[in-house]
Amino acid sequence: MSNTLVMKFGGTSVGSVAALNNALQIIRDAKKDWERVVVVTSAMSGVTNLLLDCAASASHGRADSLPQAESTLREKHFAAANALIADESLRERTKDEINALILSLVDLCKAIAVLGEASPRAMDAVASLGERMSVRLLAAVVQSAGIPAQPIESTEFIVTNAHFQNAHPDFKATTEKTRAALNPLLDQGILPITTGFIGATAEGAVTTLGRGGSDYSAAIIGKVLPANDVWIWTDVDGIMTTDPRIVQSAVTLPEMCYSEIAELAYYGAKVLHPKTIRPVVEAGIGLRICNTFNPAHPGTRLTANGRVNGRVIKAVTAIRKQRLVTIEGRGMLGVPGVAARAFGAVAATGTSVPLITQASSEQSICFAVPAEIAPVILAALEKTFAREVEDEDIDRVWATEDVSIITVVGAGMQHTPGVAGNVFRRLGDDGVNVLAIAQGSSEVSISLVVGAADTENAVQALHTLIVN
Ligand code: ASP
Ligand code: MG
Repeated sequence: MSNTLVMKFGGTSVGSVAALNNALQIIRDAKKDWERVVVVTSAMSGVTNLLLDCAASASHGRADSLPQAESTLREKHFAAANALIADESLRERTKDEINALILSLVDLCKAIAVLGEASPRAMDAVASLGERMSVRLLAAVVQSAGIPAQPIESTEFIVTNAHFQNAHPDFKATTEKTRAALNPLLDQGILPITTGFIGATAEGAVTTLGRGGSDYSAAIIGKVLPANDVWIWTDVDGIMTTDPRIVQSAVTLPEMCYSEIAELAYYGAKVLHPKTIRPVVEAGIGLRICNTFNPAHPGTRLTANGRVNGRVIKAVTAIRKQRLVTIEGRGMLGVPGVAARAFGAVAATGTSVPLITQASSEQSICFAVPAEIAPVILAALEKTFAREVEDEDIDRVWATEDVSIITVVGAGMQHTPGVAGNVFRRLGDDGVNVLAIAQGSSEVSISLVVGAADTENAVQALHTLIVN
């Protein structure tokens, strides 16, 4: 029998009666194979958004949506409690506890409305309520099924700094407290069911680890206990070779290394919070993504290193609705500081840049930005370089129509010549025009920019290069 397993259930995995039933069966099965099991839960799906919307409206002085939010929260949690908690006193106690949390939402929002402002700390107090409700619900459901379990809030053992809304754990304090809180339960064969997403400062103020942070919570707990494995239960079969809506033959990748998933950028981050990987994989703890709605599927296993003799190209992704901004002019050649000023101006608009290219002729700098922000960026650049434009050192600053960034990911590229050649030949054969190219020196991915209308073609063409 293996030793310690941490399982995290995402919002959809605890978001309905059917999902909770699956989660319960998954927990039952895990108890058969693992001596010690810890469960981490997200808020029921949609709850965190709803809570944050309430706080945002309250900060504009509006509390009128509160009654509606209250009843939505009650309905959602109580429907599950009524269906899945057979014991009446346990059911009523659980509902009372959840109701008390809903009432504290109302109090918090009223206070925010009076102040007319929600501090990051207040936002965290509100956001934490979702997990604090779901943990009670899930624990009662599990107890009802005859499995000894105990709900426990991670504010008791995940110690973080005071960077509200994106707090960072203090691993030393967290290690001590987590072991002290969870080991006694595990030693008695009791299943601890704890909240994802939230922690507390050493002084006891509730913090959150950032949106989608429950995955990270599971990784932290896995690392500090330590666990042998961390399994992330979600609503997809794992990481796929590409978006199945674009390529029907897309398949789940049985294995992926963490440098590869990092290159998947937005798409990867939707499946797994980016901070999850490092603590566990570096500590040699197994990390798996599995599907609550298809538990027999093995999912995707994350590994420290890419399998060199496996697939070279593993995945293809597209980031849509981007525009390429170009600053061009012969007067830029050899002039230091143009790039620094350009990116300084972009940074000042709060925009992050997913792709940059400059050819060695230095006569243009080109980078991608989200389409909707392009006009703002152009205005900022025109202002920054007004003098150079007037002196004709810079000929123009302009943006394309909508484009997509297509990224081909695979750690095996580092050791395999000719991958770029194959990529561009394939696109050429399919008549896809490439507007810009970027490859990081890590050689784990190649990104290229194509017109919006070529997005599907490019992804489909490149997906054919993924061979088993
Ligand atoms: N409930 C939190 C969120 O929606 C954390 C999570 O689900 O991972 O961001
Ligand atoms: Mg998530």
